[in-house]
Amino acid sequence: MVSKCANPACSTPFLYFHQGKLFRRESAAGIEAAEGNGKKRAMRNIEFFWLCNDCADKMTLTFEEGVGIAVRPRAVTETAA
Ligand SMILES: [Zn+2]
Repeated sequence: MVSKCANPACSTPFLYFHQGKLFRRESAAGIEAAEGNGKKRAMRNIEFFWLCNDCADKMTLTFEEGVGIAVRPRAVTETAA
């Protein structure tokens, strides 16, 4: 489970669900759990990531194949004055 902000540069601890932004990632491939009889069972691998209020304001999370989770600056919606 999530223990802190997903931004590596930020150390805000995860305390409240209503703060920041929670991301859920379901890997399609999942993980395979080998059973005793040699059968393999596909298991869904669900991961949670959380950005604190400050980071969620400025950043978002993306999931990249082979890379995993990446913190990216949010596309800035500029308000034309
Ligand atoms: Zn943060």
